[in-house]
Amino acid sequence: MANVPNILLIYTGGTIGMIKDYKSNALKAFDFKQIKEKIPELKLLDCQVKTMAFDKPIDSSNMSPKYWVQIVDIIENNYDKFDGFVILSGTDTMSYTASAISFMLENLSKPVIFTGSQLPIGDLRTDAKENLITAIQIAGTQVNNKPKIVEVCLYFEYKLYRANRTTKVSANQFEAFHSHNFPLLGESGVHLTFNEALLHKANPNKRLIVRKRIEDNIVILKLFPGITKQVVKSILNIPDIKGVLMETYGSGNAPTDKWFIDLLKLTLNNKIPIVNVTQCINGSVQLGFYETSSILKEIGIISGKDITTESAIAKMKYLLGEGILFKDFKVLFEKPLRGEMSY
Ligand code: ASP
Repeated sequence: MANVPNILLIYTGGTIGMIKDYKSNALKAFDFKQIKEKIPELKLLDCQVKTMAFDKPIDSSNMSPKYWVQIVDIIENNYDKFDGFVILSGTDTMSYTASAISFMLENLSKPVIFTGSQLPIGDLRTDAKENLITAIQIAGTQVNNKPKIVEVCLYFEYKLYRANRTTKVSANQFEAFHSHNFPLLGESGVHLTFNEALLHKANPNKRLIVRKRIEDNIVILKLFPGITKQVVKSILNIPDIKGVLMETYGSGNAPTDKWFIDLLKLTLNNKIPIVNVTQCINGSVQLGFYETSSILKEIGIISGKDITTESAIAKMKYLLGEGILFKDFKVLFEKPLRGEMSY
């Protein structure tokens, strides 16, 4: 085939690559090299698809920064040879992984599309086929021989999302993901349509920068009514902790008890950044909107605005891994770096 897009399909693990053993009824991984036999439609696509798989495919519950780096390495080593990348992953932590990859790849000029499925590829009612075929088609969509998508996306159940805006919302429904604070980037109906105005645009003067240093030692402090001093203190005093993500109420509100504020201040004095993200699935942190968040603003808590927890974890690990100093951390975190939050 001449002049058709070259797509690299990378299987990391998850339900999508499984088949049902109808004798035992259990799900088991199948040899991914047989993907074209399992989905013969792949041969009909208007692009060339090469496949690659992790040596030992993993359930996405076992995903970790070590594997994020592995994915990024594969993309980096094949960046010039392919026009786009489709990453197959388990859905459980796909939003975390895809968010992390979005930070680790700066100045993308090619698509990286994550997808997976709720039912295995070998199941009669599988959603894997549509997800996989359309994800490849999206990765192969070009305008004037240039990829249309130049960012990390997540495609699932007829919808294309900015990956770092997504959250897994259902363990049962085919529509497993949602982007609560950002519109869809595209939809698959009779035609593939894109929300042109929202798509990132490539900058031809900027080359891809790959970032692989990821900080491990961060923690989530999830507030709940009645959380005790002992619990907050022991979380904030975890040895070697480098960053704290505090999940607050509503528009970023938290208790105003002196002991609580004092513990936060102590953490900040130790140059450990604290980012405020809301437990609400929709809407934004607005520090100072209520009295219960004014004090947080005063002491230097960082606003996560409308970022998801998944994306905030990835962004914090990325920025700390890059060695960003405490004094610069707030400014960088509050700024959208890959479209992960609103201005
Ligand atoms: N437990 C699986 C995983 O996340 C579920 C899935 O693939 O959707 O790897």
